[in-house]
Amino acid sequence: MSAAKPKLAIYWASGCGGCEIAFANLGERLLEATEVVDFVFCPCLLDGKRKDVEALADGEIAITLFDGAIRTDENEDWARLMRRKSGILVALGACAHGGGIPALSNLHTRADHLHNIYFAQAENPERTLPCQTHVVQVPEGTLEMPVFLERVKRLADVVPVDYAIPGCPPETDQIWNALHALIGAGPLPPHGSVLGAGAANVCAECTRKSSDKRVSAFRRVWEFEPDPALCLVEQGVACMGMVTRGGCGGLCPQVQMPCIGCYGPPEGVYDQSAKMVSVLGSVLDIDPIRNLRSKTAINDSVDASLDGLVDIAGLAGKFHLLRGPVGGPSAPRKDQP
Ligand code: SF4
Ligand code: SF4
Repeated sequence: MSAAKPKLAIYWASGCGGCEIAFANLGERLLEATEVVDFVFCPCLLDGKRKDVEALADGEIAITLFDGAIRTDENEDWARLMRRKSGILVALGACAHGGGIPALSNLHTRADHLHNIYFAQAENPERTLPCQTHVVQVPEGTLEMPVFLERVKRLADVVPVDYAIPGCPPETDQIWNALHALIGAGPLPPHGSVLGAGAANVCAECTRKSSDKRVSAFRRVWEFEPDPALCLVEQGVACMGMVTRGGCGGLCPQVQMPCIGCYGPPEGVYDQSAKMVSVLGSVLDIDPIRNLRSKTAINDSVDASLDGLVDIAGLAGKFHLLRGPVGGPSAPRKDQP
């Protein structure tokens, strides 16, 4: 009798579903994967229920890919369940890895969100707040509503995480590479590794010609036609390639769009958004202020140069507003290097 294949699961918390689409885009390679793993829970491909996961023994799933941020108590609950049932837990995509776009909501309070969504933007004369009541009675029975948490968390803020695959979404080929690293014949990568990506930044993969960076004004790509051969930053576009982990192949600059940072910080950079602010400061052309003497004149000149940068927090912290190492609070597992 042949040995049982290791089990693989994928779970989708608070995200857009793009990571699952990137996974489903493995296409025929999924059939290849079934020669070495059994898919036991995979909402984008199979009909499975929570009770199916609960019925498994603790640690029975060899690998779980967990995508989406932690926005509700239900997400937290699933994170704990999948952690308990899985030998290896992988944060798949920017939301699980670094909070992603959902974590931008941490710039505001929970009360602000509920007010805006249910009062300011909706016709709601009775001022009903559905997320306030955890248990709701309806004619068909009792419904338990997930609690909308005060803050968005990364997966690693809730449970120990073994690896991360970055990207919004991760490139399908990179998911495949990461799966190979985890289910291939070789030793497991070191605990806490970022898989399916490079160590260097996007600029290292970008084919645009780069030289001295001196920017006197920032603008967005719809305001002019950038030279396709030259570095976007040198043309005044706030491309995040310098502060973003490579691995996508420099996809966005290839098509005249700036990198918006979806692969998160490269090796050695802890806070991607702070690093981007530092990049913006370092490329600013100081010639216009060299001979200015008054503080007000200098501030006005710098403000004018930065005027074209709209929503710095949304620009620099779009995918990794939350920071920290992949492995979160956990120590390396004993069976891993
Ligand atoms: S900053 Fe952007 S456009 Fe410039 S080299 Fe880096 S990735 Fe390419
Ligand atoms: S260029 Fe930047 S934003 Fe675009 S896919 Fe690559 S890492 Fe993501």
